[in-house]
Amino acid sequence: MSLLSRLVLRVTGWGWVRSLFTRRFGRRMAMRFVAGETLSDAVAATRALNERGMAVSLDHLGEHVTTRDEAIRARDDYLECIAAIAAEGLGANVSVKLSQLGMGLDDALAAESLGALARAAAAAGTTVTVDMEESAVTGLTLDLYEAAQRAHGNLGVALQAYLHRTPGDLERVIPLGGHIRLCKGAYDEPDTVAMRDKGEVNRAFDRLAATLMAAAGTVPAIATHDEARITPVAEAAAGRSEPWEFQMLYGVRGTMQEALVADGHPLRLYVPYGDSWYPYLTRRMAERPANLWFFLRALLGR
Ligand SMILES: Cc1cc2nc3c(=O)[nH]c(=O)nc-3n(C[C@H](O)[C@H](O)[C@H](O)COP(=O)(O)OP(=O)(O)OC[C@H]3O[C@@H](n4cnc5c(N)ncnc54)[C@H](O)[C@@H]3O)c2cc1C
Repeated sequence: MSLLSRLVLRVTGWGWVRSLFTRRFGRRMAMRFVAGETLSDAVAATRALNERGMAVSLDHLGEHVTTRDEAIRARDDYLECIAAIAAEGLGANVSVKLSQLGMGLDDALAAESLGALARAAAAAGTTVTVDMEESAVTGLTLDLYEAAQRAHGNLGVALQAYLHRTPGDLERVIPLGGHIRLCKGAYDEPDTVAMRDKGEVNRAFDRLAATLMAAAGTVPAIATHDEARITPVAEAAAGRSEPWEFQMLYGVRGTMQEALVADGHPLRLYVPYGDSWYPYLTRRMAERPANLWFFLRALLGR
């Protein structure tokens, strides 16, 4: 992650900046990356993407809840989302952050809620992906994921190429089966736990992607918008008989998304919805600081 990207994450974490964004300018910007604030917005966006040949992973925005009630509400919102996927016959699964289900506050509650989502998803014929958050919770996230995956078998997890620990984590999760999402990593991490050099992260990503694409019994989900990372995976896919997919974010590189589908590649879009969009938006801005110009234009009323 570049110095500028880390600066963006720091500054957008300040209380007054957050309040300026959320009360005034941010919503308009966020809607470039978010399908809307309600479940029906998410359903409509999913239907439209399915019609264009893309599968979806629905993310009901939220993370790091501070009360059990919030954690339970988050679980119930996800149950409602899974019910809608089944009722509307959508080509979609769900992505969830364990801190949103109470991890760190009440780990037993988070584990129980993840199990409830996996059961509901199984009944709806779909799956649950566990997003990966900051490195302080990587180990705990994998522990809760492993327990749920062993019990239910219809989950998947995200791994971040920039973490030094990820090759070991990949070896740990491959035997559990499920879908494994490989991404670069979106948080501001110290260099003791994560690579900072972009080239180094890219090389780590390519090595991990090659391992994942060669693994049997998993569904590799290669999550990137980086053309140089996509090309070797598309080549490796030619020799793969088991399912796999590319994954991209709603609102990022739409033309490339269309081209991948036109070339016959399986593509799933990560589609967030809900009103807790601020932390998600800050990570999207940090990935591409040029996005800040949208903010400045909004600020100037253009
Ligand atoms: C489906 C999916 C799920 C993810 N889940 C997680 C997760 O669980 N945990 C986690 O830490 N991270 C997650 N990420 C984010 C990921 O870690 C990266 O931060 C993000 O994908 C940007 O990296 P990149 O691979 O696209 O490469 P980059 O080198 O960052 O970007 C390549 C090109 O893509 C375009 N681009 C990338 N990001 C943006 C943006 N925000 N706005 C506009 N253009 C952009 C630019 O043209 C850029 O040059 C996820 C990403 C995807 C696609």
